[in-house]
Amino acid sequence: MRMDKLLANMGFGTRKDVKKLMKSGSVHVNGEIVKEGKVHVDPEKDLITVFGEKVEYKSHVYLMMNKPQGVISATEDTEHETVIDLLLYEHAIYEPFPVGRLDKDTEGFLLITNDGQFSHSLMSPKKHVPKTYVATVRGIVTEEDVEQFKQGVTLDDGYKTKPGELVILQQGSISEIELTITEGKYHQVKRMFEAVDKKVLTLKRTKIGDLTLDPELELGTYRELSEDEIDILL
Ligand code: URA
Repeated sequence: MRMDKLLANMGFGTRKDVKKLMKSGSVHVNGEIVKEGKVHVDPEKDLITVFGEKVEYKSHVYLMMNKPQGVISATEDTEHETVIDLLLYEHAIYEPFPVGRLDKDTEGFLLITNDGQFSHSLMSPKKHVPKTYVATVRGIVTEEDVEQFKQGVTLDDGYKTKPGELVILQQGSISEIELTITEGKYHQVKRMFEAVDKKVLTLKRTKIGDLTLDPELELGTYRELSEDEIDILL
């Protein structure tokens, strides 16, 4: 990869800024000053430094965010803050996007990446990647609901859902539940409860596949996934 392209991709400015930076002698490759942008480097093997600081180049970024309410799962929105607005510059330069969507009023586990293949493999309806949600629901959730969700419920548009695993965490006039589903229809969890005459009051996604949202992540914060966590999702 060309040195100037790599530095521009990494957020060191435009090609023109990078040219100036390189001319100043601040860029070293394997200990040697490199002033020519056209020099080719292998970001995986060569030791690249700018102002003496090591530059870690990676083509992909994988982030786990604890999405807060009130923020849109999109890259751009004319009215509202998006999950991408919550990212630091060092991650935003990778031009990542959310993997699927959570409603504006839904909290919890959102993956953000710039790896289209990774995103596709998690979103593909053929893969049936389970997603787990915790919700508070107005109405007494019963064992009958558990059985109905297991059989699949019919949504307002006539679609019959695939089996969902419903666990009652607390039963009452406001119940707390955990639900695992393998599809991602529009407003699916809310509509599944509407199908059994109940209303979702709060919704939080806690798990995608076998990966659980890091409990240390405060709402609105995020961190990079480890290699092991990426492997768990692949
Ligand atoms: N189901 C919903 O109803 N909303 C979400 O945000 C996710 C799943």
